Amino acid sequence: MALVVQKFGGSSVATIDHIRKAAEVVARSHAAGHRIVVVVSAMGDSTNRLVKLARETTSSPSTREMDMLLSSGEQVTIALMAMALRELGLESRSYLGSQVRLLTDSVFCKAHIREVETARLQAYLESGGVPVVAGFQGVDAEGEVTTFGRGGSDTTAVALAAALGADECQILTDVDGVYTTDPRVVPEARRLDRITFEEMIELASQGSRVLQIRAVKFAGKYNVPLRVLHMGGEGAGTLITFEESDVEAPVVSGIAFSRDEAEITVTGVPDRPGAAAAILKPVSDARIAVDMIVMNSPRDGCVDFSFSVGRDDFSQAHKLASAIAAELGAGEVRGNPEVAKLSIVGVGMRTHAGIATHLFETLAGEGVNVRMVSTSEIKISVLVPENVLDTAVRAVHKAFELDSLPAP
Ligand code: ADP
Ligand code: ASP
Ligand code: MG
Repeated sequence: MALVVQKFGGSSVATIDHIRKAAEVVARSHAAGHRIVVVVSAMGDSTNRLVKLARETTSSPSTREMDMLLSSGEQVTIALMAMALRELGLESRSYLGSQVRLLTDSVFCKAHIREVETARLQAYLESGGVPVVAGFQGVDAEGEVTTFGRGGSDTTAVALAAALGADECQILTDVDGVYTTDPRVVPEARRLDRITFEEMIELASQGSRVLQIRAVKFAGKYNVPLRVLHMGGEGAGTLITFEESDVEAPVVSGIAFSRDEAEITVTGVPDRPGAAAAILKPVSDARIAVDMIVMNSPRDGCVDFSFSVGRDDFSQAHKLASAIAAELGAGEVRGNPEVAKLSIVGVGMRTHAGIATHLFETLAGEGVNVRMVSTSEIKISVLVPENVLDTAVRAVHKAFELDSLPAP
């Protein structure tokens, strides 16, 4: 008898019909003799709708009130899911994060889990019940409701699986596993039977939203077997694993991309020690994460200094950079919020040379101008104009032989 956490994402609980089908998946696993803990997201795009309501109300909502608002989406789903399970004859009960006691720090909108109390869930499981837990939310020491950032229900599922010592954490979603890239952009993308934690962390951090990055890191840290599979429960999906495959790893395992990027260039920065730090300090003081950085070689005692930030932070970062540019006596500050990032990821990159060349040649062949580059041992990221992103992803997917083989 295994203990399994089954997490259903927004699209898997978008309507009552979906919730009924998800309940059937849970009931099947339960009937097979497993103990199941269910985690659910808000229905469909209801979290986005709540965000929109907040924006209509104010341009700068308090993060505490955002968490109070956004956590309501999951509260709706847990009750409906418990009702659907009871309709199928199971004993089921819904729990908010604060009732389980997923204890977090007090950083609203991006809280970190500190402790997961399991006594209440364990007692209920032992009585034969199926607990349904609200994803994405916890509670701080003062009893304030907190949330874990968008896509955070994945993290709830993994945290519960770790705390309960579950045999597997299943992320059920609208695709039947992790693909070589987003199958919505590249129809030729292939499902991977397995992928390493290391690769999945890179893919998730570079924009593959199929798993929230924090969930993957958490699962890796606590050794939680993590599987992505279709909401219908059929198929083996993709197992995230520590083991590298016996066969030689492909050079590139997957491609991630993110459209939410923006680029800022400060021209004519005096070439002296401390200039880069002076530009970036106000940006980091404002808690804006800087991703890629490019500085060209000095000419006439000046350099151009470019960096990328998330698009939501663009206007603030642009303002800060303009202020510091004036102080430094630099030239103009140029901004471009219409850029996107494409990243190729693979543990096989460690042992192969010439990957960057192949990537740049492929992009050049499509007429794509690369604006910035960053690399790690198993990843190369490039910043490109947003309007050519889809073309670039498809071309790179093909060039690295990730396309599925044509049907015989
Ligand atoms: P959920 O609502 O279940 O949490 P998400 O929308 O967060 O689902 O994640 C699933 C989506 O992730 C898929 O519909 C797919 O478009 C996207 N996706 C991006 N990259 C990949 C990938 N490499 N493999 C599979 N899906 C991916
Ligand atoms: N409902 C939250 C969101 O849309 C959490 C989740 O779905 O994982 O981001
Ligand atoms: Mg998700």
